[in-house]
Amino acid sequence: MGLTEIKARIAEAEREAGREPGSVTLIAVSKVQPLERVEAVLEQGQRIFGENRVQEAAGKWPAFKARFDGVELHLIGPLQTNKARQAMELFDAIHSVDRPKLAHVLARLAQELGHCPELFIQVNTGEEPQKAGILPAEADAFIAECRALDLPIRGLMCIPPVEEEPSLHFALLAKIAARNGLAGLSMGMSGDFERAIALGATHVRVGSAIFGERGSG
Ligand SMILES: *Cc1c(COP(=O)(O)O)cnc(C)c1O
Repeated sequence: MGLTEIKARIAEAEREAGREPGSVTLIAVSKVQPLERVEAVLEQGQRIFGENRVQEAAGKWPAFKARFDGVELHLIGPLQTNKARQAMELFDAIHSVDRPKLAHVLARLAQELGHCPELFIQVNTGEEPQKAGILPAEADAFIAECRALDLPIRGLMCIPPVEEEPSLHFALLAKIAARNGLAGLSMGMSGDFERAIALGATHVRVGSAIFGERGSG
């Protein structure tokens, strides 16, 4: 598919939803992709990228950042507390704040480092046992706890269950965000970003539709 087509489809989805042009931020998910594909997308002008592993991102992004100005990196995968410091130094946003222990570590590091990436709280909207994220019923209390820690909470993030209609999950995430006064909604991937935009996504995380299937060389 490619970057140009995805950007056109995002613009069309914004129009159809009656939303401001440019109100949706495209995060190009470059995890596992061959470096030459990432470089090609950088050459086309894309600057906002998503990675799901701290180690992998630390291996490839410093060199790209040295060559391309204005790169913005978003961590979209689970974060272990022992990698939190490295993540805060490398990433401009973290979409996977999902438990009190991590929130407390991030707050302590933010004090120490004097800065903090923008944060999204991951909500396990499908209540899947194997999936990260705070449960919907615990979300309001966790958001309040993060705010009490002075963390810069921008919004919420979800990854709907693969077998279910994602729109129900996007609508639930939007509802939790609205009642907590949070503006950011990180939702929508290659297969469903238009439905996410219709339901208010501010950040879509699109990988394979831009770069091609992962692992297909
Ligand atoms: C890999 C990944 C994506 C991108 O998935 P595609 O289906 O390739 O667009 C989005 N969000 C998260 C959290 C991911 O891990």
